[in-house]
Amino acid sequence: MVQEDDDTSRISMSLNPSLSNRPNTLSVNGNNEKAIPEENVLRSLSTGTLKYPEDEHFYTFNSAHLQDLGAIGNGNFGTVYKMRHRETGKLLAVKRIRCNNIDQREQIRLLREHDTIVKSEKGPNIVKFYGAIFSEGDCWICMELMDISMDLLYRRVYNVKGSRLNENVIGHITVCTVDALDYLKKELKIIHRDVKPSNILVDGHGSVKLCDFGICGELEDSVVKTHDAGCQPYLAPERITSSDKYDVRSDVWSLGITLYEIATGRFPYPQWNSVFEQIAAVVSGDPPMLSPDTGDFSYSLPLIKFINTCLMKDRRHRPKYDTLKNFDFYRIYARGGPEIEEAKEILGVEAIDAREHPIDIVG
Ligand code: ATP
Ligand code: MG
Repeated sequence: MVQEDDDTSRISMSLNPSLSNRPNTLSVNGNNEKAIPEENVLRSLSTGTLKYPEDEHFYTFNSAHLQDLGAIGNGNFGTVYKMRHRETGKLLAVKRIRCNNIDQREQIRLLREHDTIVKSEKGPNIVKFYGAIFSEGDCWICMELMDISMDLLYRRVYNVKGSRLNENVIGHITVCTVDALDYLKKELKIIHRDVKPSNILVDGHGSVKLCDFGICGELEDSVVKTHDAGCQPYLAPERITSSDKYDVRSDVWSLGITLYEIATGRFPYPQWNSVFEQIAAVVSGDPPMLSPDTGDFSYSLPLIKFINTCLMKDRRHRPKYDTLKNFDFYRIYARGGPEIEEAKEILGVEAIDAREHPIDIVG
């Protein structure tokens, strides 16, 4: 996880803070009462603890305690499965990330970070994290099961059904995502670093929640370092050209690309075939800009202003969350009311429909 290194809100990208200045005991899986000496953790990485927000109990578990009910989806670094925790019968989403090459010290450090992530159970619009284990060379990350991700949902709505997501729905998604990102930053001192439609999840009630921050993000970073990661389409221009420091405004760019995509039904750049093409488009080219009649649809000025401001190419002109929350587009939808209730209903119906009718994704 990337945490703030000072109060200027600059973020350190260092993924390997020294273990020596950390406490001698570990609190794995957020179980503070049972701090485990480090040498025991080395022997017991395959056993972790599951903690559900609504249940005081800590459940010790390993892979045998989870019944595999089938794959939900694939990412660049692993696969997400639907699983049942045999002891409680609870359904989970379990993300298995291949990470044979992560040594045990790194594994310990990552598991230690659970303490922070478990705290996120109080956060708004954040997928709940229940626990993690290292097993058979994979890291298993257990989290709240949602119905569908926004990438699959919007593709079904625009490409398969020839329809669109209306502005109230986009507004609801915007407010939930900005609130989640702001919470991560303010309360947990984390920036997300991987904001994109597949990391925004939706359920049948129209709840919108952000996932894949913290331990997921860090594991994926470790995997990226040892593989050719290819293009990362949601990266802000400054992250493509420089990798030393960045702040929340890089996530604001990714949010802008994400909202552009779900508002129009298409990724704003033509497909890149190499990192060089990506650099030419994102770093050297003009940023995407939504106009009142981009594509087949019309958009309100508050929506256009919000998205286009997230996509200011120069990071210094891009707003942080406090400023974004003062934009009309955020304020209209943050108020709640009957339109939002209706938007949630529509989104919930689309989520179930998209879950029941999986689409083939090309590219
Ligand atoms: P990347 O590997 O680049 O992060 P990704 O986000 O598409 O890409 P994963 O995070 O591995 O990859 O997720 C794969 C798919 O699994 C997602 O697109 C989503 O549809 C589904 N998924 C992930 N987490 C959950 C969850 N908690 N509940 C329900 N479905 C999920
Ligand atoms: Mg993901």
